[in-house]
Amino acid sequence: MARGQQELVFAPLGGVGEIGMNLSIYGLGPEGRRQWLAVDVGVSFAAEEHLPGVDLILPDIKYLVEQRKSLAGIVITHAHEDHFGALLELWPKLKVPVYATPFTAALLDAKRRSEPGAPEIPVTIIPVGGRFTAGPFDVELVTMAHSIPEANALIIRTPCGNVLHTGDWKIDPTPILNDPTDERKLRAFGEEGCLALIGDSTNAIREGRSPSEADVRKTLTELIQNARGRVAVTTFASNVARLRAVAEAARACDREVVVVGRAMERVGLIARELGYFDGIPPFRPMDAYGYLPPNKVVALCTGSQGEPRAALARIAGDQHPEVTLSRGDTVIYSARTIPGNEKAVGGVINGLINQGIEVITDRTHMVHVSGHPRRAEVAELIGWVKPQILIPVHGEALHLTEHAKLARQCGVPTVLQCRNGDLMRLSPDPRLIDEVPSGRIYKDGWLLVDAQSRTVADRKRLSFAGSVSVALALTEKGEMVDDPSVDLLGVPERDREGGLLHAAVFDAVIATFDNLPRAKRRDADTVAEAVRRAVRAAVAERWGKKPMCYVHVLAV
Ligand SMILES: [Zn+2]
Ligand SMILES: [Zn+2]
Repeated sequence: MARGQQELVFAPLGGVGEIGMNLSIYGLGPEGRRQWLAVDVGVSFAAEEHLPGVDLILPDIKYLVEQRKSLAGIVITHAHEDHFGALLELWPKLKVPVYATPFTAALLDAKRRSEPGAPEIPVTIIPVGGRFTAGPFDVELVTMAHSIPEANALIIRTPCGNVLHTGDWKIDPTPILNDPTDERKLRAFGEEGCLALIGDSTNAIREGRSPSEADVRKTLTELIQNARGRVAVTTFASNVARLRAVAEAARACDREVVVVGRAMERVGLIARELGYFDGIPPFRPMDAYGYLPPNKVVALCTGSQGEPRAALARIAGDQHPEVTLSRGDTVIYSARTIPGNEKAVGGVINGLINQGIEVITDRTHMVHVSGHPRRAEVAELIGWVKPQILIPVHGEALHLTEHAKLARQCGVPTVLQCRNGDLMRLSPDPRLIDEVPSGRIYKDGWLLVDAQSRTVADRKRLSFAGSVSVALALTEKGEMVDDPSVDLLGVPERDREGGLLHAAVFDAVIATFDNLPRAKRRDADTVAEAVRRAVRAAVAERWGKKPMCYVHVLAV
């Protein structure tokens, strides 16, 4: 290709080959003089067994920081954590314009106010379905149905061709809350000409179509109608359509709604302010729960993922100050259990069942639907926009590959698969052309640490085999002053023969020291290294595991 030629490139910096942490960039210009646009800056939730003490995983944005001066802005497609959850942490490193719709902007602001010290981010609010320019990019929002209000696909128009970035979406003709997916605009875009479709792969392994939010409302209404006692429904706080579905079901059954859980109260206020609860009677304050007759109340609770501090777990553990459930009451899980949370959710469910409470989940009833497109919907979108290129994003390897296969079956001429950090040229001559830095960073307490850093790896080792620390003091002549001090942490007390591990370590220290040639005993580093090896070997021999081992040698 001729140097200095205008080209359009795309790279995912997160969200490809993994769940969560969505971040994509588009670049326009000749190589070396590209202007960039970022789409979404999401987080992943860390699994405790792999990353002890780490809650969140964020995308490493060092490449964007490098390119900051030519970064025209960040567009947020919707307010799910996997799309906007890293913005408060990472925006201060970029300080570029942020574009979002009113609901997303309001949730971001509410989140900022709940996190002391979080930065105020100036957000340019774009109306639903609106169009704006960011640098050389002409961006138009397309309303998509999803499990949160104001989910948008982006039509990104450039002199090198036009892209559809789907964000998260499904086709739901009766989504309860928003307008349905904007088929008319998408078909028109198909007529105009779609160079590339960058699409959600989450449910690309599931046949057929996802059911509608209205089906969930119908089931919820039937279940609440048939319930004898109190009903509690738990779902994601941000799923405003579901909150509305529950409220409508409650009203149809002549029950009042009490919201339990701070995150849900917060979202509820924003949703009401923005008109998403128009026509729904106001929610009752929490203290109303106590005096409303059991068959006149529905509690809407946080805690669908088994979070120990959220409303439902506290209610199940009888630790909630105002809300209680008892034999004959019903709890409905109107949410999917995110992989990794099964144990926690199972624990709460078993606790409820042991108290004689009936628990209903999506295993037996249509009380939850996914917000992502199944295969028939993916095929339908391809039919509407007829892209020349399709790149699957938002999913693990299996989802991406199935999405790619399906796109080929649908006749998409060029289907490209890529990994995080792959720089794909979309036009001219679409293919992988380069690699840009990408990766993950951990939020550890208040700090951001590199995924490569020792701290988390050390903590994993500590949790697996504990630590041994030894301190000893040497005189200038290389004589040990007093007995060495030995501390074991997370190491068993006795071995199989009943011998004390503490004593074994102590003996290993003395024996090693005595066996060192006199001249070497004066060198603190030599002594420390010899003792460290001996201690590790002594513990490994008796336990079969190698703890972390520290030896401090003090010269006195
Ligand atoms: Zn989403
Ligand atoms: Zn998502």
